Amino acid sequence: TVRTRFAPSPTGYLHIGGARTALFSYLYARRHGGDFVLRVEDTDLERSTPESVNAILEGMTWLNLDYDEGPFYQTQRMDRYREVIDQLMATGHAYYCYASRAELDALREAQMARGEKPRYDRRYRDFTGTPPEGVAPVIRFRNPLDGEVVVEDAVRGRVVFQNSELDDLIIARSDGTPTYNLTVVVDDWDMQITHVIRGDDHLNNTPRQINLYRALGVTPPQFAHLPMIHGPDGAKLSKRHGAVGVMQYREDGYLPDALLNYLVRLGWSHGDDEIFDRPTMVQLFDIGDINQSASSINPEKLRWLNQQYIKNLPPEQVAVELRWHLGRIGIDPAASSLDPARLVTAYADRVHTLVELAAQARPYYEPLTGYDPGALAKLDDDAPKILDALAEALSDDAAWASEAALDQTAKGVAEALGFKLGKVGPLLRLALVGQSSSPSLGVTLSLLGQAQAVDRVRALK
Ligand code: GLU
Repeated sequence: TVRTRFAPSPTGYLHIGGARTALFSYLYARRHGGDFVLRVEDTDLERSTPESVNAILEGMTWLNLDYDEGPFYQTQRMDRYREVIDQLMATGHAYYCYASRAELDALREAQMARGEKPRYDRRYRDFTGTPPEGVAPVIRFRNPLDGEVVVEDAVRGRVVFQNSELDDLIIARSDGTPTYNLTVVVDDWDMQITHVIRGDDHLNNTPRQINLYRALGVTPPQFAHLPMIHGPDGAKLSKRHGAVGVMQYREDGYLPDALLNYLVRLGWSHGDDEIFDRPTMVQLFDIGDINQSASSINPEKLRWLNQQYIKNLPPEQVAVELRWHLGRIGIDPAASSLDPARLVTAYADRVHTLVELAAQARPYYEPLTGYDPGALAKLDDDAPKILDALAEALSDDAAWASEAALDQTAKGVAEALGFKLGKVGPLLRLALVGQSSSPSLGVTLSLLGQAQAVDRVRALK
């Protein structure tokens, strides 16, 4: 069975590049009825923080990328890494290297002075003498000296590396702690990962890892290296391009499903289609359709997708996010009888983000704090008369039989006074929500309810 994993290092928030890696790994497992594993690569004690672990888990939960196993933590697997390091030592695939920092610095300088690429010269590879005093050794992997390593990458195709280009990499630091290339191999092996899907910044590590697998007598997994995500300007994605953390996208008013749809299209396509809900993604996703070139973020497309999801998801589902946004602006929708899902339906065509939707929702949950000054300035002498008539008509319970009846009531007032609805409508909206645009009059009125609507019409007058 297919087994994939997402293996973030907890050194910051869940970045959208990481989220895309997680999504592709998740989709591939789901598509093949396999398992998706979450593994936290927290062995770098200086850079890993519990806050970051939480931020990653929070991001995964918000995106609803559910994993079948994990989270596993590498810091809880130290004994196992030690065991494998000992095994590599015992089988002659690893050796102690006593080179001191000063010694390595001198080597490096000499190499650079000769115009060579600095690299470890394997000076302790065949060392049999007495170890120098006072140096805590690192452990290095005895990389093959010649031959090549062929990576048959599912995205990049065949990539060939020469062993002569690969250093004897450090697998255990002088304090005994294992390094990334060792732990990742041990974990992918133990966790029986069949497909390693990750960013192509790891492509250069892959031949080293394949050599480790071979030394351990284990068949390596299939690799798939994802091309980078760039900013709209073509440069590597960074903070100056806007939000990069997944939870920042939440704060900016995006729905998790819209963000997933957006992410799946960053580097993957299926014909010209743009909208992929989760079941469709799972059904269609294939590693073979991943683009080989980098993709660029496109904030306008994300906004467009977000509106599609606001319009097309069940309103109750969008309302879950809307409630969170209302809470952020100090509104407790639970204290009101107005269900936020009704606002989703009413405003879906008018907003692209939930931040915009929450702002539009405010006058339905809180007293009006003012009116749009531009609209107020346009009021003329007819306004009091019209508002009077509206208050009167809306006080009649019969007007509230349906939204259509409410629309009809407003129309009736306009006709009776000899004004166009184009004059009455904006005025009524201004009274109700403080601005001259809103959904249909019937919808706006019914969201507010009779008592509040009549009060507000009287208040503007
Ligand atoms: N922990 C590594 C990172 O966050 C990923 C390792 C991998 O996927 O092999 O970059």
